[in-house]
Amino acid sequence: MDYYSSQITKLIEELSKLPGIGAKSAQRLAFHIINMPQEQVERLSSAMMDAKKNVRYCKECFTLTDQELCPICSSDKRDHQTIMVVENTRDLAAYEKTGKYNGVYHVLHGAISPMLGIGPGEIRLKELMQRLQGDVKEVIIATNSSLEGETTAMYISKLIKPTGIKVSRIASGVPVGGDLEYIDEVTLLRALEGRTTL
Ligand code: ZN
Repeated sequence: MDYYSSQITKLIEELSKLPGIGAKSAQRLAFHIINMPQEQVERLSSAMMDAKKNVRYCKECFTLTDQELCPICSSDKRDHQTIMVVENTRDLAAYEKTGKYNGVYHVLHGAISPMLGIGPGEIRLKELMQRLQGDVKEVIIATNSSLEGETTAMYISKLIKPTGIKVSRIASGVPVGGDLEYIDEVTLLRALEGRTTL
């Protein structure tokens, strides 16, 4: 089995633990890395180490950032009275790519899933409710259209309703079970513009 030197095998093994990287890709990447100039490999490894060491959650919206506040939360060009609730940082990135959303976000880091034993306490809901004590006009719920995403959307809307803040849900058109990050920008924009008040 160990027809490469053990260090190459180790590199292939580590790479194949990454999502979406099968044994063949891992092998291809490993040989590519070995053939890269020394400085480039050093830049790659230090970029990984620096990101791992310095990246944390934004204290306002809980997206990943290397500052106390992410660039969106600290921008005075954004509408801080409109909060879009997403499941993860990748979904936030998908909406940012459209360039058409000017509000801020709240990243839940998951969705409620009774099947997987993930309750409301396991996602950043308490933090969202705390933010709503400030000056907020609308909460747009943009969780996925999976069962978990819909359960979460319903739960959040019930929590917010009594506060009198407008709650809306992005339009379906986002495929059921579809991960927001894989949906094209036009579909995302349509879902956002066609949102309905809950
Ligand atoms: Zn933020």
